[in-house]
Amino acid sequence: MASEIETALYTVATPIGNLGDLTFRALDVLKNVDVIACEDTRNTVKLCEKYGIKTRLISYHKFSETKRAELFLDYLKEGKSVAIVSDAGTPLISDPGEILVKRVVEAGFNVIPICGACAVITLLQSVQRTGESFKFIGFLPRIKGQIENVFLKNKTENIVFYESPNRMEETLKILAKVRPQALTSIGRELTKKFEEIKTAPIADIIQNLIPKGEFVCLVHMEQDIKIDNQIIEKVQTLKSLKICDKDIVNILHVFFEFPKNKIKEVLFKL
Ligand code: SAM
Repeated sequence: MASEIETALYTVATPIGNLGDLTFRALDVLKNVDVIACEDTRNTVKLCEKYGIKTRLISYHKFSETKRAELFLDYLKEGKSVAIVSDAGTPLISDPGEILVKRVVEAGFNVIPICGACAVITLLQSVQRTGESFKFIGFLPRIKGQIENVFLKNKTENIVFYESPNRMEETLKILAKVRPQALTSIGRELTKKFEEIKTAPIADIIQNLIPKGEFVCLVHMEQDIKIDNQIIEKVQTLKSLKICDKDIVNILHVFFEFPKNKIKEVLFKL
C-alpha cells in the first residue's frame, strides 16, 4: 500500500485484545507517521514489535494531555505527522485524545480517523437487540445513587457502558436492585482467548458471572407495558383533538420524552 501521509493528526484504532485486529491502513499510518502519541509506551511497544513498526513513541495520557498536546502541535507546525493511539481500541472513546484533537482543529490542521476495533461496537455487533438506537454511557459514575439514576432514567433506551472488572459485580447488583427484570448482555474479554458473550435476565448474568477480565455491558430497553399504555392514552386524547400524527409524535416526544419509535408504533396500531 502506497502511503501518502499528510501533515495531520491521525486518530488510529488499535486492537482490543486480538492483535490480528489491526487494519492495513492503521499499520501503514503507524509505520509512516513521524511520531506516535500513546497512552502507555509499554503497551504500544507490543503492537509495534509484532508488526515491525519503528516509529518513535511518546507517552500521552490523561495526566499529561494538556502539556503534551502542545508538543504534538509543534510537530505539526514543523510539517510533521502525528498518530494517536490508546491502550486498546479507538482513541477518544473513553480514552484520551479530546484535548489534542481540540488543539489540532483550533490550529487549523486536519484530524484523520483510522477506524477499527472498539469494545462497545464489538459487543453491539454480536447481540440481537430491539430497536436500532443505543446510548453509550462510557464509564458509569462511581456513586451508587448516581449509578441507580443512570439505570432508572434510561429504561426505554438500549444503554451500553464500560466497567472495570473489580466493580462489575457490584454494578450488576445495583442494576438488579433497581431493574430486576432487565435483559442484559455482557461482553467479557472480547476478541481474546476466553471471550464470553452472553445475553440473559440480570439475575442469571449475576449468578454465572466470572468477575475477571474486561467487560462491556448492554442493558436492553424495557418493552414497558406501562409506558405503552401511557402513550396509547395520550395519543387517543390528541387524536380526539384532531392533531395530525406528525405533531402527535413531536408533542409526546418533546413533552413526555417517549421514544419516537414507540409513539409511531402505537399510532400505527390504533
Ligand atoms: N477506547 C476503547 C474502545 O475503543 O473500546 C475503550 C477504552 S476504555 C479506557 C477501556 C474499557 O473498555 C475497559 O474497562 C472495558 O470496559 C472496555 N474494553 C476494552 N477492551 C475490552 C475487551 N477486549 N472486552 C470487553 N471490554 C473491553
